[in-house]
Amino acid sequence: MTTTESALLGKSLPELTEWIESTGQPKYRGKQLYQWLYQKGIRNLEEITVFPKAWRAEMADYPVGRSQIHHYKTAPDGTRKYLLKLDDGLIIETVGIPTEKRLTVCVSSQVGCAMACEFCATGKMGFTRHLEAYEILDQVLTVQEDFGQRVSNVVFMGMGEPLANLEQVIKSVHSLNKDVGIGQRLLTISTVGVPNQIRALAAENLQVTFAISLHAPNQQLRETLIPTAKNYHFDQLLDECREYVDMTHRRISFEYILLARVNDLPEHATELAKHLKGFQSHVNLIPYNPISEEEFQRPGKKRINVFKQILQDHKIAVSVRYSKGLEADAACGQLRTNLIKTAG
Ligand code: SAH
Repeated sequence: MTTTESALLGKSLPELTEWIESTGQPKYRGKQLYQWLYQKGIRNLEEITVFPKAWRAEMADYPVGRSQIHHYKTAPDGTRKYLLKLDDGLIIETVGIPTEKRLTVCVSSQVGCAMACEFCATGKMGFTRHLEAYEILDQVLTVQEDFGQRVSNVVFMGMGEPLANLEQVIKSVHSLNKDVGIGQRLLTISTVGVPNQIRALAAENLQVTFAISLHAPNQQLRETLIPTAKNYHFDQLLDECREYVDMTHRRISFEYILLARVNDLPEHATELAKHLKGFQSHVNLIPYNPISEEEFQRPGKKRINVFKQILQDHKIAVSVRYSKGLEADAACGQLRTNLIKTAG
């Protein structure tokens, strides 16, 4: 049996109960295991002090589904970036972002990413593999444990493209909601768009917040920034987004990274406004965070405000989102592990 098949994290209460009975324990221990796993955040079955000693010793090596913290770094604003080591030695990044009232976790959904967006550090490292649902849950429990505080929000904005790994992402959403206890509306799935997957997500009828990384006001410019947009036309993407709104009755957030003189001209703002008119949406402008290649530049405050004002003049709901964690390379687009696989 591989860890993937047997990891306890990600299993529901009935599944855990069935499993615990298969190990010769009474049914009521299923509930106990469930609480210790999701509420106390155990890393090893030996830690469950209410269980018989002999059973704990026997199960000490059973895979719970937790990663190891390989390294971590704190930015002056309190944001912490973790490098987590998975069972197979691969490393992923997770970010914990504390604000006054919230603790947000930015989770990875894949090791690396196949989308290869020009401005994103993760895109430069290529794709290695999908994450399993338990590996997504582990990231949230790790941050919760390290901060000693309950996680209030989760954003699928770390490494990877969530809609390219939809099944496991949806499984993790259900477990984050039911088992870890985070409201669906406080979970955000972000995507550059993968053909037909927006429709597939809509069919799940979740209450999650949905964000589209749009980044350009037309097909021509978009495909220069996001290579995969060549196979997914701007109009088709927006059509699927409209379907999403119709099916779920939830508005969509459009993320728009601002790259100086590339996509931040006043005519870009006007064109964007034209497309989003009457759309139940909100635009988040994200000033570019530098990555080592330095191919792009962040626009100054003045250019950002002009862009924002044009959208507002067209009655488009808009805000500017400065990422946290810049100093720890933990901000949007800066997640990359050079050390993909560590020895031992
Ligand atoms: N693949 C998904 C999930 C990753 S989210 C997606 O693209 O939506 C990462 C967010 O950070 C996206 O909105 C992305 O466009 C943004 N981002 C990527 N690189 C960035 C950079 N260098 N500076 C600021 N934001 C960036």
